Amino acid sequence: MRLVFLGPPGAGKGTQAQKLCADVGWAHVSTGDLLREAVAAETELGLKAKAYMTGGGLVPDDLVVSLVAERLKKDDCAGGFVLDGFPRTVVQAEMLEKTLEDMGIALDVVLYFATDRDVVMERLTGRRVCKTCNINYHVKNIPPKVEGICDRCGQALIQRDDDKPETIDHRLVVYEGETAPLIRFYRERGLLKETSGNLNVEEGQAAIRTALGL
Ligand code: AMP
Repeated sequence: MRLVFLGPPGAGKGTQAQKLCADVGWAHVSTGDLLREAVAAETELGLKAKAYMTGGGLVPDDLVVSLVAERLKKDDCAGGFVLDGFPRTVVQAEMLEKTLEDMGIALDVVLYFATDRDVVMERLTGRRVCKTCNINYHVKNIPPKVEGICDRCGQALIQRDDDKPETIDHRLVVYEGETAPLIRFYRERGLLKETSGNLNVEEGQAAIRTALGL
């Protein structure tokens, strides 16, 4: 299947996409991860994107769309993919439609994660990540086996700069203004399905599979 996971930051999209894709063999395409990799590698795109990301704003549409278009051409996307954190604006959604059309493919489902604000705040403030493996943890909900250490590679976990409280508020304002209109955009195209972003990891995964008919 070709899917978009849509919802506010902290809805669990990344955690659920990682798990689902590992199980069913689809590619997990997270623009946040791709951009963070570009920033770390100090590519031209990474250098342009960095300031937007640190402030919790959106990276310009053309940069993100070209990144995704390149990624979707890779072999691992041929069997299906989950777009996580993309599109985030109506312009990106329109550009994605065109990109997929040019490739002779289309989205099957856009899954919207309806999530309460207090859940989002709790998830984002407690999130810790492994920069090497791109795995998300949570100090309470998804703790690593050894506190502060990645289960897979043994490196120290970090808190993302944009998960600091002062940046979270801004990201949620950006979500409401720029990204939430996509709920209507995709509903009008008959692609939208809904799941709850308030569930724990296991319950959330089960609900997603039910919503997708898997
Ligand atoms: P995420 O990991 O999805 O929360 O993304 C982290 C940051 O990367 C966002 O706050 C944005 O600055 C940037 N970003 C990720 N995806 C996009 C996108 N589709 N459009 C614009 N900026 C994005």
